[in-house]
Amino acid sequence: MKRNFTSPPVVLGVDAGGTKIMTAYVDKSGTIYESKRYPMNRSAQPDAVNSIKNAVTDFIECYGGERLPQAVGLGTIGHIDTEKGIWLHAINIPINSPVPIAEELSTICHVPAAVDNDVHAAALAELKWGFGPTCANIIYINVGTGIAAGIISENRLIRGASNYAGELGHMIIDPEGEPCACGQRGCLEAVASGGGIISAANSGLNAYPGSVLNNLKSEGKLHAGTVFQAAEAGDEFAGKIAGRALIALGTAIVNLVNLLNPEMVVLGGGMLREKWIAGYLHEYTCSRALAPAKKALKGIEVSALNPEHVGVLGAACLAWNRL
Ligand SMILES: [Zn+2]
Repeated sequence: MKRNFTSPPVVLGVDAGGTKIMTAYVDKSGTIYESKRYPMNRSAQPDAVNSIKNAVTDFIECYGGERLPQAVGLGTIGHIDTEKGIWLHAINIPINSPVPIAEELSTICHVPAAVDNDVHAAALAELKWGFGPTCANIIYINVGTGIAAGIISENRLIRGASNYAGELGHMIIDPEGEPCACGQRGCLEAVASGGGIISAANSGLNAYPGSVLNNLKSEGKLHAGTVFQAAEAGDEFAGKIAGRALIALGTAIVNLVNLLNPEMVVLGGGMLREKWIAGYLHEYTCSRALAPAKKALKGIEVSALNPEHVGVLGAACLAWNRL
């Protein structure tokens, strides 16, 4: 295929999660051109790393005739040394020894490469193409299987001493609370993440035989989104689970708002997209946050970025920022 020299410059964004990899060409305005999905093989570290490298190689082979990227960015899970481009450690993808992944992707694509964790990357996408142009101080909260945050202060992502800032899921909201996978008790994630909500539903179903959650479970449709829908429709048990999750999340947000004084809290991920949830959290926060912090807070809003695409958009941001 003939290369189209008139098309705008693009970078290659690579979003590598626990089950799939998405790759896309993205221009400077955040427009996605070609995109493709690949499976992630996470049997062992070499399989996972090869899944990413093979996806990038295939994508360039498929679409390199039309465009070539100016840089490549990878957003993935775990702890990353973004300065050196090294994937240090991850659990859901078994990364146990450091991988110089930016260098490896740079070798495949012959362009500069950058890597960061996916929630940092998504927060950067929010800064560039979401609420960022109107807000310099944003807390981006991703609620999905787990919970994490990207903190933007004065248009800059707060990375911390070792690029590990934002592990909101392990903010302890109840020291006597239930055990969390991290070894502590009462972490936000144990109550308010998708995983926490499903496990609360499963463990209480017997006590609520009339709950619609029983039907959802037998139909294979029991997930956090349907629990919130059932709660809104008036199901008592779903209401208890959703209420507990939202109070935990609201408590975490009040703490963050008092601590960091953001203008906007943005809810990312697919789980909290129903408008009433953002409204509830806003009301909860405004009735508890300190007055000056509350006054500066313009809102708690669902991200305008498509949750299906925010991963590759974030990865593309890493690439654009690398140039
Ligand atoms: Zn924890």
